Amino acid sequence: MGKFFYLCDKLRAMDTWFGVLLLFILPIFFALGWFAARMDIGAVLKQAKSVPEHLYQSLDALIDRKSNIAARSLSEIVEQMIDDKNNDITAHALGLSLGKLYRQRGENDKAITLHQKLLNSPDLDGHRRHQLQFELGQDFQQAGLVDRAEQQFEALANTEMAKAADEILLNIYQQDRDWKKAISLASKLAHDETTYQFEIAQFYCELAQAALFRSDYNTAREHIQAALNANRKCTRANMILGDLESKENHFQAAIDAYTAIEQQNHDYLGMVALRLYDAYAAMDKAGEGLEVLIGYLKTFANLDFINIIYDKALALYGETRAAEITTDLVRNAPNLLGVYQLLSIKISDLPKQWKTDADMVRTVVGRYVQKSMMYRCRHCHFKSQVFFWHCPACNHWETFTPNKIEV
Ligand SMILES: [Zn+2]
Repeated sequence: MGKFFYLCDKLRAMDTWFGVLLLFILPIFFALGWFAARMDIGAVLKQAKSVPEHLYQSLDALIDRKSNIAARSLSEIVEQMIDDKNNDITAHALGLSLGKLYRQRGENDKAITLHQKLLNSPDLDGHRRHQLQFELGQDFQQAGLVDRAEQQFEALANTEMAKAADEILLNIYQQDRDWKKAISLASKLAHDETTYQFEIAQFYCELAQAALFRSDYNTAREHIQAALNANRKCTRANMILGDLESKENHFQAAIDAYTAIEQQNHDYLGMVALRLYDAYAAMDKAGEGLEVLIGYLKTFANLDFINIIYDKALALYGETRAAEITTDLVRNAPNLLGVYQLLSIKISDLPKQWKTDADMVRTVVGRYVQKSMMYRCRHCHFKSQVFFWHCPACNHWETFTPNKIEV
């Protein structure tokens, strides 16, 4: 029993000690907590104040189209974040935007430095690393460092960024005129919605054209066939085949190749009109060749080789017959080019008092024809006096009108 009271007394004593202890320690804990809380809140407030302020500044500047101010404000935040080695997800996201802004402003060196710096972050996970490599590739590409761009994009194969990287790589290969790599990549990228059949056929045509240029006829033939396999409507493949057959003095085969374009897309017949006539002429069938061209022009009014018909008819049958043939064709389907040709023909028949004025009209119409008749890209509306298979403005293939049109 005595032992029990002894324990109770001890506990009471401990309780007193504990109470005293609490009395001293608790305020210290409170004070520490208060300081800790103050410090955290201070840091948070500092960050909350500084980051949004610069962000708002840059957003504001972007809205006002002051990209130099926007880039400067954004770079202050990103640099601070990189130096602090914290908030790296935000730094990464802002870094991507800032890099794009730099590229937009043509400051490719700044974009490269920034993305390389972000890539050195030790905590970078796979996805963010790939995003940065993709951006860096674009920086290099825009800076004209194509080899280094290629390396970045090729390194993204088998990652979630592979498709986007491959699409840019396809453009780079085309710029480099590396048609074999372009064919292989376009075949890999092809799917149900985008088959790349026009592009692949054109890449083969580029190879065929180059082979023909160096008189490697067998290789040219293989590439032409591959182009037609990719796109059986590829008129360019038949044009190159016709040229190849002509070079090898197989004129009937050349005629077959050129005339096959009628079934593929008759709008392109104008591009081979002269070559087709020459193949007939080489077989001593110039008259037959001219009849074929006249037939085309009667059937397809938008073809633009009335001048070829006049020139060849003039050489074959003389001025009177050439004028008759041309006049009939123009009357059949009048257009600007035809009218100009008609004026040129009729001018010699006019009485002397009309001749000077008619000549003036012809000159004015001629100037207008020169200015307003052009090839035009159906995709981006780029206009040119020269025909392109590959639009230099939008990089699309086979988008140029095959005949000059009024623009
Ligand atoms: Zn275009």
